[in-house]
Amino acid sequence: MGYLGKLYHLIDLSTALIPYHFIKSGWAFTPLRIALMVTHRCNLRCAMCMIVERDAEFRDKDLSTSELKLIISRIPSRTLITFTGGEPFIRKDILELLDYASQDHRVNLITNGVLFQDEKITGVVSLAPKHLFQKGPILVGVSIQGIGETHDHVVRVKGAFEKAKTHVLQFQEEKKRQGKTLPLLDIKSVITDENVGQMNDLVDFTKEVNADFCTFQIINTQDSSYGITDVAEDAYLTPPPPVRFSNIETLKQQIAIIEKRRREVTFEIRFNPILPPGEIVKRYRNAINIDDYGCFVPWTTAHIGPSGNLFPCYSINCGNLLEKTFEEAWNGQTFRNFRQRLREAKIFPGCEGCCFISYRGKHT
Ligand code: SF4
Ligand code: SF4
Repeated sequence: MGYLGKLYHLIDLSTALIPYHFIKSGWAFTPLRIALMVTHRCNLRCAMCMIVERDAEFRDKDLSTSELKLIISRIPSRTLITFTGGEPFIRKDILELLDYASQDHRVNLITNGVLFQDEKITGVVSLAPKHLFQKGPILVGVSIQGIGETHDHVVRVKGAFEKAKTHVLQFQEEKKRQGKTLPLLDIKSVITDENVGQMNDLVDFTKEVNADFCTFQIINTQDSSYGITDVAEDAYLTPPPPVRFSNIETLKQQIAIIEKRRREVTFEIRFNPILPPGEIVKRYRNAINIDDYGCFVPWTTAHIGPSGNLFPCYSINCGNLLEKTFEEAWNGQTFRNFRQRLREAKIFPGCEGCCFISYRGKHT
């Protein structure tokens, strides 16, 4: 973890730990991060994505521009908002929404890169601040699931890799043209059987496009429903389905190469969640011990689904932000119940594989 990452982690911990240890009612300070799902829709067809399966059902159900602006206005101003989806750039009003959010918030964006082009690139860079702690877009994460045909195979759209790469390079050029270092660029990949042999190539790709981060996402098999539909209040008691993965030896080899390269490259290579190499391998072998883990995340982070419901991680509806103020939902009874249960349990069976989980065992 780099210097800024460590600082952020410290802020994260102190914001979570005080109420976690001292406030038994489940109350929390205002959140540091909110993931805002601005659409149900996506232009890609990733094999592992449940949004794809339900695309037809939700196609016409995105919130309007004014509804999303109302929700954004209710999010506390110190909170970093991550625009996500679906694919945020599928919305025609995305620049208007980003502009609106940037007036009072720091903003992060996650995209598959295919529709992130031309005036959208220029617009995002124009909104970027000069410094990380100022308002506006500070980070763009682009999902790249392998090199060339591997990526196209995973996302099930031919030509997606070339388009995403072209747009990433245009984005970097536009930052130079406007004399900006922000938004930073994060190349993000979920490690699967399809791309595990290309992890080192993804580090090369990050170098080639001069990105700031190369993030390897550990696969998550939880059916937390991503805010699309509500789940039962005790859904987290059920362990997620096992990971289907066969290339364990390749994974070990690639991690070993990457651990060496970490010290050589000028950008940050990170795993999400942050785990020691031995735990990453155990996760892919379905062999982790859940008692080695804990979580403070619902004290600092929440999600807003595409219909405006606030939820902690599992899609337990804590209130719709078109109807409630942020505080009413964030510190309402449902959210506080969830925090209280987590505090008592330390971790839930359903947390296995969550990208927010925190390892508290020995580092091997
Ligand atoms: S890019 Fe993201 S939202 Fe779109 S299909 Fe793939 S995983 Fe789903
Ligand atoms: S690890 Fe934390 S954030 Fe993840 S599902 Fe469990 S309680 Fe939620």
